[in-house]
Amino acid sequence: MNEGDLDKLRRAGTIAAQALQLGQDMVSEGVRLLDVAEEIEAYIISKGARPAFPVNLSINEVAAHFTPKTNDRSVFDAGDVVKIDVGAHVDGMIGDTAATVEVSSKRYQDMISSAQKARDIVMEIIGDGMPLSNIGQAVEGSIKADGFLPVANLTGHEVKCYDLHAGLTVPNVDDGNDEKVRDGMVLAVEPFVTNGEGLIKAGRPGNIYRLREERPVRDESARELYDAIKRDLGPLPFSDRWIQDMVPRANLALNKLVRHGLVSGYATLVEVKRGCVTQSEHTVIIRGKKGEITTLA
Ligand code: MN
Ligand code: MN
Repeated sequence: MNEGDLDKLRRAGTIAAQALQLGQDMVSEGVRLLDVAEEIEAYIISKGARPAFPVNLSINEVAAHFTPKTNDRSVFDAGDVVKIDVGAHVDGMIGDTAATVEVSSKRYQDMISSAQKARDIVMEIIGDGMPLSNIGQAVEGSIKADGFLPVANLTGHEVKCYDLHAGLTVPNVDDGNDEKVRDGMVLAVEPFVTNGEGLIKAGRPGNIYRLREERPVRDESARELYDAIKRDLGPLPFSDRWIQDMVPRANLALNKLVRHGLVSGYATLVEVKRGCVTQSEHTVIIRGKKGEITTLA
């Protein structure tokens, strides 16, 4: 990676980490999810970056992929276990980071620290030449020693320019994958911990969308919306909150794009036994035998 891109990667990481900290400070009983998501995203923009995806605020058995819709009025309740997952990018160079907070209670602190510990162990051992299965093994071993299970079918991922889930997946269990981490790779490492079955399945729509391949669509406002998303937001995931001013009756146009297959919506990812899920994530660039964490505040 050239110095310019490395600088952008580091800036994006720092901004994402600061935005995550802001979110952690904001989440509390009675606060609206929408306010937290919008403040985090506004912070990212105020620092000269852009959100790499809508802020995910996934609660309890929902592991990931929920963001509040435009006009969402829901608030955090006492006892909620909230995964805050934040991405920022500078010219496509992405920082992706997440933390878990518990609202007005202390029942899941062990699960929260278990996810963090597993992530930090990987930060210590990761480097050029390490097989992916060793990372999975370290995560799985640490989480099981804490008395919980990793979510086996949620993984970390390689990150490339304007591509959030590129190339390698970084396992949270020993999956026997002998592919190796290589110098210069950017990886998001994100253990998920649960007291459930250790698996997630697709749940309800989570209000997060992505563009699919262009194809003809007759409807003029739908066409106009597609072009505006492509021009202003690029290929990264987006929220309906971000498109409201792009065309009149944007939600209607968005639904048309979904119906015609030009946009797809992500489903929330829900623990199969409705177990509670915690998450912790850093982005790291491999520099020789070590990793440099980019998502530190
Ligand atoms: Mn993330
Ligand atoms: Mn990630």
